[in-house]
Amino acid sequence: MPPSQPKIVLHDHLDGGVRAQTVIDLAAEIDFELPRTDVGELAGWFTIAPGMEFEQAWQRFYVVIAVLQSREALRRVAREAVEDLAADGVAYTELRFAPLNHIRAGLDPDDVLEAVVGGLADGEAATGCVARAIVCGLREEDPERSVAAARLAIDWKDRGVVGFDLAGNESEFGVEPHRKAFQVARRGGLGITVHAGEMAGLDSIAAALEYAGPDRIGHGLNLIADCVVEDGRVTGLGPVAQAIVDQSLMLEVCLTSNSCRGTPKERHPVRLFHDAGIAVSVNPDDRAITTTTVAEEYRLWRRLHGFSNEEFRSINMRALEAAFIDEPTKARLRPLIADGWA
Ligand SMILES: [Zn+2]
Repeated sequence: MPPSQPKIVLHDHLDGGVRAQTVIDLAAEIDFELPRTDVGELAGWFTIAPGMEFEQAWQRFYVVIAVLQSREALRRVAREAVEDLAADGVAYTELRFAPLNHIRAGLDPDDVLEAVVGGLADGEAATGCVARAIVCGLREEDPERSVAAARLAIDWKDRGVVGFDLAGNESEFGVEPHRKAFQVARRGGLGITVHAGEMAGLDSIAAALEYAGPDRIGHGLNLIADCVVEDGRVTGLGPVAQAIVDQSLMLEVCLTSNSCRGTPKERHPVRLFHDAGIAVSVNPDDRAITTTTVAEEYRLWRRLHGFSNEEFRSINMRALEAAFIDEPTKARLRPLIADGWA
């Protein structure tokens, strides 16, 4: 049975969505000391709050990454991620992660990829939710590591990996030093997305366009600075926003995640973007670390920004076109989305 109101998720971090109970189980197996041992308290501790320093927020990810250093752990969390998304009516998802974060206990990078794509396939077989991986480089790391991540992603292309992303500390580190990784990924035929305009301003989005050559933008929140807004609607676009429209680049919008970093959900410009012809898609970003679900994101878009089923239908149809999956899979999913939101 296909899900009713089938959803396309393009921006969800594997390490940002691990169930608290799973973190507790995995920590016990390797005697790793967690900051909280009660499942409810740990889930609460995970939640990033506005005003947290980068390091403080990132500590949440460090804890999760610390317990994801074995094949079994990675395979389990990848499968559980697909199960959780499928339970929310997701028909297709791209889950992203930085493989080189998971080689500290001796795993080979290929072991990491094999475990994650294996877990995604397990989840897909169990639920019918199609799941693929995006490999991330990290802004704060040596650009040569990003190149290595891009090459690894290409090695796993057609075996479960479909794209390349640059994540990490946008406030302090630019995209330009990582331009070679994007060149490598693009020449290797991967889809390109890049976190930009989330923790940094419009210049960061402009740099992403210049140096990454993306198909999609992660967040793009601060693109609003390049939009002229009058009487609650966009009446003019600056050059960066116009380039996003002209190149049909989709923004991977993450409402709750942006609220954790200080933009109240009701003040998010997603409605302005959408009505101005900027392509947007609905994404959870970090389900555990920001305490959200895909279903909750849809509720917020409806309640706070007035999105209708008809709009969700066209948003998901467009998100499917922007997905990095092959055409036969898109062709199979298209009627599902078209009929499921009718
Ligand atoms: Zn993200």
